[in-house]
Amino acid sequence: MPEKFYTFPEGAQAYIQTAENEMAQVSYSLERVTETFGIRWYDICHAKKSGDNYAPQQVLYLAPHSDDMEISGGVTTRAHVQRGDHVQELLVTCGSAGRSNRGFSEKTMPIVRLWEAYRAAQIGEIQRLGVLHDLSEPEKLGLNEWFSDFPDGEYARLGVNLIRHYNPHILYSPHPDVDVDGHPDHALTGEIAQWAAGWGTETDFYKDSFPATQTHLDSWRRYAVWEASEKLSANYYTAYDPSGPYAGDKMRRIEVFQSQGGVNYAYSILSRDEYVGGMNTVGNNKHLSYESFNEIKSPIVDTPRWK
Ligand SMILES: [Zn+2]
Repeated sequence: MPEKFYTFPEGAQAYIQTAENEMAQVSYSLERVTETFGIRWYDICHAKKSGDNYAPQQVLYLAPHSDDMEISGGVTTRAHVQRGDHVQELLVTCGSAGRSNRGFSEKTMPIVRLWEAYRAAQIGEIQRLGVLHDLSEPEKLGLNEWFSDFPDGEYARLGVNLIRHYNPHILYSPHPDVDVDGHPDHALTGEIAQWAAGWGTETDFYKDSFPATQTHLDSWRRYAVWEASEKLSANYYTAYDPSGPYAGDKMRRIEVFQSQGGVNYAYSILSRDEYVGGMNTVGNNKHLSYESFNEIKSPIVDTPRWK
């Protein structure tokens, strides 16, 4: 359980101050990804040693906001970490939309959300946490929420570069169709991933612009945090016991996001997993909770460009 509970908006000022103080202590490295974009990477944990017969996988988890990975894949990422996979979480926005009713403004929200993401990643033993940001504004913590400053067409270049630069075996992102995941930041993050998985894996095109080669990608798993008019047609699930240790671990990681709702927030998300799992395992002796993904498998370069 978090050591300290805050009631917002009364506690917001103290909470912001703590976030600023703690994040000022941690170092990061900056990697340039395109002309326009860089990533601030925070090293969190070393990867665990894998079993003798297991080749660890590189996992890149694209999250539009600082809580999306824990919500959509808290148990899935824990399973990767346990196997010895190398998990990199990349935040595409800084979650800047102010929550004035909770005492946060557009100016103070980004550091708070980054601090929460950092602590959740520590609990989850994630290897690296990154925040994408515009290199022309180095003091800013990430792209504005709702993509108000996302240059037209840049997400394509970014997607292709991301996949060639980090060369993951498994890519996670929101579903790119706004009818499936309705939040515009989610749809656009999905679109970055679509460029990554579609054109980034091309062996022929863009060789001059993007000389690195993508050689690993085997699986693109799409999630939907904000299900819209169309439900995610899931074909890949991570099942877990709703009263077991994985549920507790996911709960603790989501609870960290106090600015978004903390413990009640965690309850509502675990309830959703349990509902989806229950609908799929009803009639069995023991029903399970599910994290759900729509997965496309390799050979990815031979598939038509996905829509
Ligand atoms: Zn989100």
